[in-house]
Amino acid sequence: MRDQLSRRGFIQKTVSVGALTIGTAALVSACGKKEGGGEAKAAAGCNDLTGLSDADKGMRTSNKYVDKAADAKKACDLCALYKAAAAGAACGGCSVIKGPIAPKGSCNLFAPKA
Ligand code: SF4
Repeated sequence: MRDQLSRRGFIQKTVSVGALTIGTAALVSACGKKEGGGEAKAAAGCNDLTGLSDADKGMRTSNKYVDKAADAKKACDLCALYKAAAAGAACGGCSVIKGPIAPKGSCNLFAPKA
């Protein structure tokens, strides 16, 4: 009987700790999402190339696209080819380089706005 109580207590404590762990993980996850979709995406960078063809990926590479411009005066958001990010989004686009483009990124095709 004593073993059964002890076993029951162990199981109850294990289930409680498990539920607490899962609840805490869900809370932390939810908090991260509320920090702002755009900011969270920016932290991840604009390098999700899902769905791009090898040719499009090659264009990014051959034109040396980077998420952070070495020269701030040549950032994508100052380029005539840049397409501004939608409201709440961290990444914009480009008329030439396919895929997500960071506003402060750059590449060799930079063309200043007129
Ligand atoms: S051409 Fe290059 S610098 Fe200009 S917006 Fe596109 S990726 Fe940025």
